[in-house]
Amino acid sequence: MGGMRRTWLKLVLGAFTISILPRRLQAAARHVLCIQPLGSDLPAEDVALVKTALETMIGLEVRILPRADLPAAAFYPPRRRYRADKLLDFLDTRLPPDGARILGLTGVDISTTKGKVFDWGLLGLGRINGASSVISEFRCRMKSSGPTQSRQRLAKVAVHETGHTLGLEHCPNVGCLMEDAAGRVATCDREYDFCGRCRKLLAAAGRPLPTAPRIPWPRP
Ligand SMILES: [Zn+2]
Ligand SMILES: [Zn+2]
Repeated sequence: MGGMRRTWLKLVLGAFTISILPRRLQAAARHVLCIQPLGSDLPAEDVALVKTALETMIGLEVRILPRADLPAAAFYPPRRRYRADKLLDFLDTRLPPDGARILGLTGVDISTTKGKVFDWGLLGLGRINGASSVISEFRCRMKSSGPTQSRQRLAKVAVHETGHTLGLEHCPNVGCLMEDAAGRVATCDREYDFCGRCRKLLAAAGRPLPTAPRIPWPRP
């Protein structure tokens, strides 16, 4: 009996090791949040704030990849802007082996289909639990008081879209970084931090955010 029990135990332990180990190794291998500049360079200060915001608010190691050209396949000639979904498909193929997520960063106008509007201009787009998101500074500059405000908007949009890729949907709490901008860039200006609800959702999904981060923009 004793011998049989040992064999049984060994089998159970073996199955446990096989099911748990690869996932743990995978998690350790994919830990970097990558920023992929797309097209013409943005001001260095703006890229730096996006990086700081992601490190501070999301708590992952962040790496800026070498610039890449915008893929011609994503260009939409009638409006002379780029289709965000196609940019996400492109970014999916560029995730490095150690990359947890990849964020495209561009200054060109981007768009997607929203309801009956085929070509709706966007601040950013990220797929829920997807590998990729993309953000554009184009609309952050609209009706802004200057480069400081548009830079802060861009950094908030970066955190918002990355939040989508971590599994968060839009949040009903006013001032939460996961608020739906609903086509108005001014929504960014009242955002500050993730709310308690969003923090709980991420913690429950095994992705807790840094607590009490040093938030890199002023409280509205
Ligand atoms: Zn969103
Ligand atoms: Zn929230």
